[in-house]
Amino acid sequence: MVDPQEPDMRLYWCPQCCEHVDYNTIERRYTDSQGRSSRKDVDICKKCGSRNIFRPSRQEGKLESKGCLGVVLIIAASLVVATLISNSKEVGDLIYFLASLLLISIFAAVLFYVPSYFRLKKWKKWAKERGWEDVEDDS
Ligand SMILES: [Zn+2]
Repeated sequence: MVDPQEPDMRLYWCPQCCEHVDYNTIERRYTDSQGRSSRKDVDICKKCGSRNIFRPSRQEGKLESKGCLGVVLIIAASLVVATLISNSKEVGDLIYFLASLLLISIFAAVLFYVPSYFRLKKWKKWAKERGWEDVEDDS
């Protein structure tokens, strides 16, 4: 293990311990309301057992967020076009459908990206205190 206080985007970082940590993979079992069980592997911090550990390099997610934004834009554009050509009940239904889709996409994007954005922000602050340089200008 390298120096846990040395910022490295490829290593797991634990927000609780505020340092890079080794991790354990544990298996979690879930039982749903119908009694079916499913399994999921979860990585946890070896030091404190936190499940919030993450790898900053994977949190960047630039491609994913762009893709997500693209989907939202396409739906929004379709919505505008549908509104412009709207003169029948079918188109009205379509607009209603697209609008719900748009709302769901935005909601999902926010739900998914906001926590990881703040985690990454926290890591960057920590890393900068240790002399890490952000190569990209994100001011
Ligand atoms: Zn920890």
